[in-house]
Amino acid sequence: MTASTPMKLASHAAPAPPSFGVEAVRADFPILDQKIHGHPLAFLDNAASSQRPRAVIDEIARFDSNDYANIHRGVHELSQRATKAYEDARDKVQRFINARSRKEIILVRGTTEAINLVASSFGRPALHLGDEVVLTTMEHHSNIVPWQMVCRERGAVLRVVEINDRGELDLDHLEKLLGPRTKLLTLVHVSNALGTINPAKEIVAMAHARGIPVLLDGAQAVPHMRIDVQDLDCDFYAFSSHKMFGPTGVGVLYGKEKLLDTMPPYQGGGDMISVVTFEKTFYNALPAKFEAGTPNITGVVGLGAAIDYLEQLDWDGAMAHEYELLRYGTERLAEIPEVTMVGTAAAKASVMSFLIEGIHPHDVGTILDRHGVAVRAGHHCAQPVMQRFAIPATTRASLAFYNNRDDVDALVRAVRDTIEVFK
Ligand code: PLP
Repeated sequence: MTASTPMKLASHAAPAPPSFGVEAVRADFPILDQKIHGHPLAFLDNAASSQRPRAVIDEIARFDSNDYANIHRGVHELSQRATKAYEDARDKVQRFINARSRKEIILVRGTTEAINLVASSFGRPALHLGDEVVLTTMEHHSNIVPWQMVCRERGAVLRVVEINDRGELDLDHLEKLLGPRTKLLTLVHVSNALGTINPAKEIVAMAHARGIPVLLDGAQAVPHMRIDVQDLDCDFYAFSSHKMFGPTGVGVLYGKEKLLDTMPPYQGGGDMISVVTFEKTFYNALPAKFEAGTPNITGVVGLGAAIDYLEQLDWDGAMAHEYELLRYGTERLAEIPEVTMVGTAAAKASVMSFLIEGIHPHDVGTILDRHGVAVRAGHHCAQPVMQRFAIPATTRASLAFYNNRDDVDALVRAVRDTIEVFK
């Protein structure tokens, strides 16, 4: 499965049973093997942050115990080892998303920082009075607020693509909004609140036909499908390590080299310069130009370990397993008359967002926790989605490949119990 061929949830016909060995994979994630309030943990909050396999935990401990030092400028052995580990991780990211060059991989704090970097270094110089940035109703706040800030500063405006009642983008509306004043189209690849997989490749082609560059927020896509940035042909792609089984505090901005080359640095400081005098500073070449200051060295090494882990996984099997679980969970929840799903797109990944009639999602989340079921309740940093559906919040269960039917059954049982409690 590539970025251009996302999994579909269109039909409820049972696909071939997956051969993926989920129990062996679960054993790689030590945190899953515990009881919460006397129940086996059913960890269904993966869209917020996924868990790390032993391989990542161990590699972080090994690196910190043996090789840690500051990177890039040290002549001593530890600094050289740490620099190699850090730069090796960049190479792993490049291969993982099939970027053309390692210069196109900017290591940042997360998706939020990646988007802020583009808003600041691409958006600020590109936007002028009356220019437009097109985004969609289903964006995470981190792909709204940076654009609002830079648009306000530059006198530019946001144009917002509508979504339908299933939580799918209105592609006709999107096409209409792409005009001569559009300086960027920025949109989520997979929605964290709805699970919708947007047809990113088709949308990028639509924008490029009008000469408009595209940023994809891939925070929720990278853990659920193969990403090939050359195939997508997007200009920028942003994602976070902690949602793809790596540590927090690390993320990636992919950018096409020809764009990154023309953009000014995001922050000033160490490492992003080649020569500094009080009269003039010469910036470093890519990717260092965008990496000012001491980065999250251990975190980046941990991201590299997460990619190693994912590369050895039966990825197609894992994705088929996860898809089958999403189909199963969606069907089981739909059997409960009090439950309404929010987000029923034909193409979905991971997310089951729902409402229970007469019970606030926060109460649902709290009671589910008493059953050992970890979900998220709230607006999921996507308040415009809640406004679109005229609801304050949803309860969101989100899957990863290490979830199994027991997890989903525990969720469904706990939802039924919650309904009983409130009767
Ligand atoms: N975009 C999407 C779609 C997300 O789901 C998230 C986090 O939930 C973000 C952006 C922000 O990611 P981070 O907090 O890792 O920067």
